[in-house]
Amino acid sequence: MNKMNPLSKYTKVEVLYAKLVSNDVIKYPTGVLVNDTVECGICARSARDELMFNNPDALMNGEAVANVIENCVPNIADARKLFVPDVELLLIGIKLATKEKEYHIEVDCPECGHHGAFERNLQFLLDSAELLEEQPELLLEDVGGLLLKFKPHTWEEYSVFGQKMFQQQKKARMLEDFEEMSDEDKMEQFSQIFEEMTKLSFEMIVANIESIETVDGDKITEREFIAEWLGEQPAFILKQIREKSDFINNVGVCHDMDVGCSSCGHEWTIQNLQFDPSNFFEQSF
Ligand SMILES: [Zn+2]
Repeated sequence: MNKMNPLSKYTKVEVLYAKLVSNDVIKYPTGVLVNDTVECGICARSARDELMFNNPDALMNGEAVANVIENCVPNIADARKLFVPDVELLLIGIKLATKEKEYHIEVDCPECGHHGAFERNLQFLLDSAELLEEQPELLLEDVGGLLLKFKPHTWEEYSVFGQKMFQQQKKARMLEDFEEMSDEDKMEQFSQIFEEMTKLSFEMIVANIESIETVDGDKITEREFIAEWLGEQPAFILKQIREKSDFINNVGVCHDMDVGCSSCGHEWTIQNLQFDPSNFFEQSF
């Protein structure tokens, strides 16, 4: 808004405050945060922000979420470089600041198939979010005492991976419906898709490794060196790395919820709840 407009100082009101999940334990490069603090004031979404969420391309490539966070959280200068757990927390904060109280979840009962709808209290999600106390590490005694340090994906990395995965899934769906193709050719194509997806999950793990330190004090941060090294590791090492990588990607806001079926009484835990912005935000006016 034009600074000459006497209303200009009434546009952004910080409604609530939240601490980032990364908690300065994993540091941001300069230029991501405006002030040198992980305490962020959060403002409500404007009508302009709502419009951004109506653009499917902007949603898919992550731009909509990045722009809305930059608009609503004055302490964030570059939302593309934010870690995903911080993005999730801020999205929930923005919803709360916009006077929304619940996150709506729909799921079929695994016992009887009854379609159920549940509400997740957003204030609870924000209050119960676990902040990082220390950076997750893995000491590999079996591999000469290498020390791996982990970091979450940035929103930019996550969006690129998400789009590539989506492309492969789309290809697989198209193949299923493609009747003119022989089964042999289909198998060939499916195995290519499978290979691509395996490669992608591998790259995603590499992106979770911030650095590898040797006992001599060398610190390796180059992606290509880490990827090359990781590709040579046996399954039992990969498993330990994957566990750390899963942990760091899911830190922060709780991704599980205990629910019960209103039809048969079955109780279970919904896991891997994703606060996916493409279905997370609803039109509020
Ligand atoms: Zn049921």
